[in-house]
Amino acid sequence: KSIFADMKVVIPAPIFHLTKMYNEDKFEKKVNLGVGVYRTDENKSFTIPVVKKCEFEVVNDPTLDHEYLPMSGNPEFRKVATELLLGPDCKALQEKRVAAVQTASGTNACRLAADFLAKRMKLRTVYFPMPTWENHMVIFDHAGFKQFKTYPYWHKKRRQIDMPRLLEALASANEGAVVLFHGSAHNPTGMDLTKKQWKQVTTVIKMNKLFPFVDTAYQGFATGDPDRDAWIVRYMASEGLEFMAAQSFSKNMGLYNERVGNLVSIVSDPKLVPALISELMMYVRPNYSNPPAFGSRVVSRVLGDKKNKEEWLKTLCEMTDRVKNMRKQLMQKLQDLNTPGRWDHITRQSGMFSFTGLNEEQVAKLVKEKHIYLTASGRINICGLNTKNIDYVAESISAVVK
Ligand code: PLP
Repeated sequence: KSIFADMKVVIPAPIFHLTKMYNEDKFEKKVNLGVGVYRTDENKSFTIPVVKKCEFEVVNDPTLDHEYLPMSGNPEFRKVATELLLGPDCKALQEKRVAAVQTASGTNACRLAADFLAKRMKLRTVYFPMPTWENHMVIFDHAGFKQFKTYPYWHKKRRQIDMPRLLEALASANEGAVVLFHGSAHNPTGMDLTKKQWKQVTTVIKMNKLFPFVDTAYQGFATGDPDRDAWIVRYMASEGLEFMAAQSFSKNMGLYNERVGNLVSIVSDPKLVPALISELMMYVRPNYSNPPAFGSRVVSRVLGDKKNKEEWLKTLCEMTDRVKNMRKQLMQKLQDLNTPGRWDHITRQSGMFSFTGLNEEQVAKLVKEKHIYLTASGRINICGLNTKNIDYVAESISAVVK
């Protein structure tokens, strides 16, 4: 008898299962509003032109080889990525109080931080926004965190952020608790705090001596402006907080399968930086040993050259403009169809996702009867909408709500 005899087929990530169902569906008008990837108006995957150009340059650069990168990653990439996150005027950067480690994308940046905070710092409690990206809890659980708490984020009825209860929950958190925040384009709600709200949160963090962990998987994808989308990270740094931030280039450079990320730690004393990096390596070495090079070289070329960076910013704006336009159209069409309820939250939200407010039953109907694929939470990927399918989607949503 096999030692694997009790294996069962499980679904580790329902979101990828949704894509599989969509791919197998033969219905002509099927729509995939599930997994968070960008699509063009032709429903095609998209490589940002300047990213493509830099890929060619990397492939054809005779000076590059396939030797291992250092465990901490590509130094040039770590520099430009960290500058993108913190901005050129960051005091912590100027004072060399920033430790950056290249990771295998945002997921792995979260995991490396969680491993380190649980195993080395012996932290036990972590707070997540309710709701949050479904992988967060699993990552912190696997790393060894023991106590999982949530702070209210989304007010279901009002379809906005539940600020009073959010602050109340954080005010009751104990010293040393890790609190996870989304830097911008909160997944799944698409709803971000205002500057004023972030300042209130920061006050509570300081008061209760909490440890912020900011997951910034969508820098530039919320507003089209990476500086604006990094506001909370820069504000926390300017307020003298110590914290960690995970960075990803999956969405804002479209480098999903190249796994390009960065874990940035802001510390109070520059002398701590080499020690912290070396201790983080204790969790890199037995895991993946060193990160992949290709994507990091591409990002270095895009961000390290003024003209390339300008081109990237321009394309980023075009992508986010398309998303904003789809939001407007969806809201308008739902209203024109006299769909019961309010739909203006769709345009108040930003980034890839909209938390529609559709319930599980309505979602199930959309999947089964309309061949429109979305998660059970009612989250839709706005990038899956286009000028050809938006009428069908609006009419279908309207029909299942009525
Ligand atoms: N964090 C959030 C909130 C996300 O939505 C995602 C991807 O969907 C990630 C992190 C990780 O993405 P990646 O590992 O591709 O960088």
